[in-house]
Amino acid sequence: MNRHPHWCQKGHHCTTERHTTGEHASAPECWSTSFGRLVATRYQQADTGRTRLEIRVVVHLTGTEQRIQESARVAIATVYAALTHRAGTGATHDH
Ligand SMILES: [Zn+2]
Repeated sequence: MNRHPHWCQKGHHCTTERHTTGEHASAPECWSTSFGRLVATRYQQADTGRTRLEIRVVVHLTGTEQRIQESARVAIATVYAALTHRAGTGATHDH
């Protein structure tokens, strides 16, 4: 019997009972904002305990093609800057 962390959604979200290297997965947390949506899901590998957070950012883009391209780059840079400058989270770069 596999033990799930209290935050694991179990069911089809969690793959630890189907794969020896499966992952526990939380219920996605969804935030609706003025610019779009944020969806965050926590995962933890069953065999190593390595934990990661997957954050999906959905940003509405409008305007000319050039404006959309610029806004997309600004959105990516903003997410990068926010994650780079946050304090005490222990985030690492994998690339
Ligand atoms: Zn689980």
